[in-house]
Amino acid sequence: MKIIMLGAPGAGKGTQAKMLADRYGIPHISTGDIFRANIKNNTELGQKAKGFMDKGLLVPDELVVDLVIDRIKNADCMRGFIFDGFPRTVPQAEALTYALNNQNEKIDYAIEVEVPDENIIERMGGRRACVGCGATYHVVFNAPKVEGICDHCGEKLILRDDDKPETVKDRLKVYHDQTQPLIDFYAEKGAHVRIDGTQDIMKVFEDITKILD
Ligand code: ADP
Ligand code: ADP
Ligand code: ZN
Repeated sequence: MKIIMLGAPGAGKGTQAKMLADRYGIPHISTGDIFRANIKNNTELGQKAKGFMDKGLLVPDELVVDLVIDRIKNADCMRGFIFDGFPRTVPQAEALTYALNNQNEKIDYAIEVEVPDENIIERMGGRRACVGCGATYHVVFNAPKVEGICDHCGEKLILRDDDKPETVKDRLKVYHDQTQPLIDFYAEKGAHVRIDGTQDIMKVFEDITKILD
């Protein structure tokens, strides 16, 4: 099963993608997590990506596409994968379609988690991200068992620099301009599914699994 998570920053893509990956035994591939790991390790890719990410802009397509296309050739993607944060532009989606086409494959579901912009600002202020495994929490809606510590790996939780309200507004604009057109792109292919992302986390999960099961 090949799945893409679509939706605004903070819509809950990562939260759902992690749970779906567990349920269906396929890898969760987050390009944001890959970039953050590269920044942490101070790689060349990390150095190139950081400036864009700090400003709330997208990293250029050429720094993203090859990396992802390589990643899905890994043996763990044989039975499928869940993309979270990729594709984010029409050229990225076209490159992915082309690469999958070459293997007679396609995206089965592009799941849009729909949340209005007003709710996003509130969610992002409360988001805490694990520096170890990328898991996300919310101080009110999804608190960790021990404040400031990841339930999964024990590393510390931080407020991401790009989750400050000023940057979130820029990221929302980027989403509407560059990523939202992918909804039509996948709708035309018959893969688009829309889920109400304002519901609580388990209800959103239930709505998604009802479709995938
Ligand atoms: P969120 O989960 O809040 O939407 P991500 O972790 O997916 O945020 O992405 C954080 C940042 O990483 C983005 O604002 C962007 O700068 C960069 N990024 C992640 N994925 C991509 C991508 N597919 N194309 C371009 N930039 C990306
Ligand atoms: P994305 O990957 O789309 O950027 P996340 O999964 O990181 O979004 O979720 C953004 C924030 O909102 C996190 O703090 C997360 O705990 C919280 N969150 C996720 N889903 C919900 C939900 N259905 N209701 C309330 N808060 C949620
Ligand atoms: Zn963790």
